[in-house]
Amino acid sequence: MFSKVLIANRGEIALRVLRACKELGIQTVAVHSTADANAMHVRLADESVCIGPPASRDSYLNIHQIVAACEITGAEAVHPGYGFLSENAKFAEILEAHDIVFIGPTSDHIKIMGDKITAKSTAEELGIPVVPGSAGEVKTEADAKKIANDIGYPVIIKATAGGGGRGMKVANDDSELSIALSTARTEAGAAFGNEAVYIEKYLAKPRHIEIQVLGDGKGGAIHLGERDCSLQRRHQKVWEEANSPALNVEQRMKIGETCAEAMRKLNYRGAGTIEFLYENGEFYFIEMNTRLQVEHPITEAITGIDLVNEQIRIASGAPISVKQEDISFTGHAIECRINAEDSKTFVPSPGTITHYHPPGGLGVRVDSGVYQGYKIPPYYDSLIGKLIVHGRTRNECMMRLRRAIDEFVVDGVNTTIPLFSKLLENQDIVNGDYDIHWLEKFLAKDE
Ligand code: ADP
Repeated sequence: MFSKVLIANRGEIALRVLRACKELGIQTVAVHSTADANAMHVRLADESVCIGPPASRDSYLNIHQIVAACEITGAEAVHPGYGFLSENAKFAEILEAHDIVFIGPTSDHIKIMGDKITAKSTAEELGIPVVPGSAGEVKTEADAKKIANDIGYPVIIKATAGGGGRGMKVANDDSELSIALSTARTEAGAAFGNEAVYIEKYLAKPRHIEIQVLGDGKGGAIHLGERDCSLQRRHQKVWEEANSPALNVEQRMKIGETCAEAMRKLNYRGAGTIEFLYENGEFYFIEMNTRLQVEHPITEAITGIDLVNEQIRIASGAPISVKQEDISFTGHAIECRINAEDSKTFVPSPGTITHYHPPGGLGVRVDSGVYQGYKIPPYYDSLIGKLIVHGRTRNECMMRLRRAIDEFVVDGVNTTIPLFSKLLENQDIVNGDYDIHWLEKFLAKDE
């Protein structure tokens, strides 16, 4: 096992990783920008290194400063958290070249899954179900029409270099296709500097369901069930559940085993998430995230497995601590993302937290780096905490979530807490009856 790990991140996830390290008896090194000198992860770490000014590109994305921080402190491994450098293949390579362990997959696997077309063709080769569509880039309008007619309308045109849900256009028939094709190309060129696009069948009312996997990098892999992250605003997840209200045990085990088997074939190392759109009983691969996800705690709640602990153990060469047959999915968990944003306009609300009282009690977990008097800096994303609630049934979980949301006090800045109070009163939410467009429609009505 490592004796010292550097955490190349900030906020709640830096604290989350720090906690796992402490429980493994590992010394921790925090890195921080000048704006985060008073952050909780810095206060709680054994050592800390300031790596630059507030802007992320000069600090949390500054590979040279982070490698230097490892060398100064003697850290043997780096946990990248999520976001920032967590899916940067070059970062993983540079660490390897310096004999520092990257707590994550190999740089080759990061690269494969970082390119949308390679990721999709790799998934297909590994036996993962994908959305029907073109095999790679579509170059001419004639080709596009042929593919669209083969798979059937509606279709969606997507940028191969896409990200964040940008550069996508839907076409319902041949006449809409040529316009959709040219606008998607122009937008892709402007947004990503690459006009290449591909075509997929458009799914009208899918859910977003993702499978958590763990691989040992030696041909062993398991799955830890699914998370339903259909409630999204602008492709950002807002509320996540495990298990999905839409799946039964057979469906869960079938798609889970398909993903675990794919990871065995790939020799995948570490934690990963395979994301699907799910419609009419079928799964369609959209992407794989080769890192820890924001919403990992709901999987921890229903399985009792510490995913960060597993990531660190695997990176140190140890086997995964559990076998597939030992994993059971107990009860139901929901995560609400608490952002420092206006709950109606979603305008960010940095500033000082004047009062802070997180909820507690059985089945309630709050992962957050904030405290009373903490000043939320304006330079980073607006996630200030995650409320994760676990109950024996979905109903118990919802009742517990209502009372936890009622208890939660964050004064001095606007937060998204009031949005969750409203969602918890909604009958569709109570029934678990929603797709990926549900939240946007609800918010439009609420204006
Ligand atoms: P990005 O990398 O830009 O986030 P994704 O391929 O992950 O792109 O897709 C982002 C979102 O776009 C999905 O979560 C879904 O809402 C929508 N989407 C993507 N592909 C399809 C499709 N074939 N049918 C319907 N919606 C889609």
